[in-house]
Amino acid sequence: MDLDKGILIVEDETPIAEVLSYALSSEGYNVQHSMHGGEALQLLRNNHFALAILDVGLPDMSGFDLCRELRSFSDIPILFLTSRCDEIDRIIGLEIGADDYVSKPFSPREVAARVRVILRRRMSGSGKREHHWFEQNSETERISFCNNQLDLTRYEQLLLQQLLQHPGRIYERTLLMDLIWRDALDTSDRTVDTHIKTLRAKLKHIRQDIEPIITHRGMGYSLINGTDA
Ligand code: CA
Repeated sequence: MDLDKGILIVEDETPIAEVLSYALSSEGYNVQHSMHGGEALQLLRNNHFALAILDVGLPDMSGFDLCRELRSFSDIPILFLTSRCDEIDRIIGLEIGADDYVSKPFSPREVAARVRVILRRRMSGSGKREHHWFEQNSETERISFCNNQLDLTRYEQLLLQQLLQHPGRIYERTLLMDLIWRDALDTSDRTVDTHIKTLRAKLKHIRQDIEPIITHRGMGYSLINGTDA
């Protein structure tokens, strides 16, 4: 199976899902369908999909909650299906990290066209994430901050690299532990905090006046969004 062709449709109205499945399959995508948010999350955690299409009104949770949860572990492109042409839905959807939305009723061809555009946009943007202050050399992997190359320990490097993948996203300590220290033997509750502290000190050494790493009390850490900087 071509990993870049997998699409998950999360929609509780079977006729809509079928029409969409048909339109996307005939364009060469491998389509899976789920009726429930909970089941969809599990599928998305355990499988690779190129894109997810989420209905806003699902029986067990809203598509927005599903998107928020999904965004805590995945950067997968998301297209929302909204039932109203409500601008609120559109704005919420895009604010919480969706790539686009389509209002019902829609033509399946239109959805397929949007999917193509999103995937093309993602492909062309991959590998060169830009941040206002940080830059990573794609060959050496070394990171510079305000044009100063950083001298980081292995874990500081992994931590900063992770935060840089999704500026603005809040990473819980437990998630960072799982992502970065999963093979480490010697860790404690303070491991993440300790490394954030040393990393901050190194950044501060270069620029006193900016604080790129944000602490979210009781939640975790994020890197300031490069585009608002
Ligand atoms: Ca629905």
